Amino acid sequence: MHRRYKPPMPNPTVVTRPRKSRAATPAPARTRRSKAKPPKVGFVSLGCPKALVDSERIITRLRSEGYEIAPDYQGADVVVVNTCGFLNSAKEESLEAIGEAMAENGRVIVTGCMGVEKGRIMAAHPGVLAVTGPHQYEEVVEAVHDAVPPLHDPYVDLVPAEGLRLTPRHYAYLKISEGCKNRCAFCIIPSLRGDLVSRPAAAVMHEAERLVAAGVKELLVISQDTSAYGIDLKYAESKWRGAPLRARFLDLVQALGSLGAWVRLHYVYPYPHVDGVIPLMAEGRILPYLDIPFQHASPKVLRAMRRPAAKERTLERIRRWRQICPDLAIRSTFIVGFPDETEEDFALLLDWLKEARLNRVGCFKYEAVDGAAANALPGAVPEKVKEERWHRFMAMQQQVSRDLLSEKKGRTIYVLIDEVDDKGAMGRSPWDAPEIDGSVFLDGEGRVRPGDLVRARVVEADEYDLWAELRQNGRA
Ligand code: SF4
Repeated sequence: MHRRYKPPMPNPTVVTRPRKSRAATPAPARTRRSKAKPPKVGFVSLGCPKALVDSERIITRLRSEGYEIAPDYQGADVVVVNTCGFLNSAKEESLEAIGEAMAENGRVIVTGCMGVEKGRIMAAHPGVLAVTGPHQYEEVVEAVHDAVPPLHDPYVDLVPAEGLRLTPRHYAYLKISEGCKNRCAFCIIPSLRGDLVSRPAAAVMHEAERLVAAGVKELLVISQDTSAYGIDLKYAESKWRGAPLRARFLDLVQALGSLGAWVRLHYVYPYPHVDGVIPLMAEGRILPYLDIPFQHASPKVLRAMRRPAAKERTLERIRRWRQICPDLAIRSTFIVGFPDETEEDFALLLDWLKEARLNRVGCFKYEAVDGAAANALPGAVPEKVKEERWHRFMAMQQQVSRDLLSEKKGRTIYVLIDEVDDKGAMGRSPWDAPEIDGSVFLDGEGRVRPGDLVRARVVEADEYDLWAELRQNGRA
């Protein structure tokens, strides 16, 4: 069977895992009218999709000023490293990435979440040119100007209206807010990124429209807490398509659902008002997919974690959602071994997991993060116990996942094609987000292209992926 390497279980959600460093996409070819060589910036982007969106914004701005993006360290006049500082391991990876850029290029600007620890960065890498924090787009661009002044040329300053993205052409992350109003005990994001700041609804919709007009087939809605969207704005209205649109979760999702692209919701909490989007999923206006980081099921542990919606009766809610939209896929992440998690708490989590039948699940062993309130909690769980619980958790979820995917056999489903090579095509169903969920393989299929939305009949399944045969090519 044609398949690519998969980790033993679907990766934990990208919000809590640093991505592998990646160089930005090479600059598109264009007619050169200027004799002077444009300055080149290298880009290394680490961390979650939110950090990726920050990188896209910085690159868009730099390209609009005539900078080119170097595909490697050697071709760059200066390198920007967008760091992640969510976990200690992510900080270590960020410091390593800075060290690599210093060794390979020597002219390095650091930005992103770890930028708040300037002293630590400068102590490890004293030659770094500048350090800026998360969302400091202006400061990063200023630092690039200082390092390599822009070349003013009206012919090379043009960028596509939708901006430049690091994702494939057919899907894009759509960030609807910055920061977070919650204060989960294990998390330092609010101290790194500040309180919730939502974008006006019209600004989100204009960006979404531009993306769809540029060929994007799937919009992945992200933020730290998507269901809290607009609370800080008191649901203020802004004008979109000549009519007022409220900065309210449901209103925004409804508007996004009218654009004709797949709309996938990430980082949603099970608040009662989330119930309102389930009928939109049942009607096919947005994807039947919810990414809800539950983190645990024991009320005692959830309280200690200070999780939002800790008091909600989630199993009941999930049951109701599935009555309205039986095809709903739920992805989530969990933490095992949180301070004072007893065997009883853990057993409750396993029972909950068996009952909830979540489609995609990632699991972390609890790890202390410098500056997190949870560090002061008593009852540290020994590493050996964490490890053992993690394995039990994964074994349980593997069985659930295998059963759920096997139920898809014989169904004809939509598949959005991501990649095609000489062995066939690989895509995703409405129940799979890019990078973190499973895939649908169309072995030997060469009649499709990346970005095609096709119909395919599921013929095989394992605990992660589906295999299908093409029924109809939806390509225009
Ligand atoms: S919801 Fe909790 S875990 Fe998520 S960013 Fe906010 S504080 Fe951190």
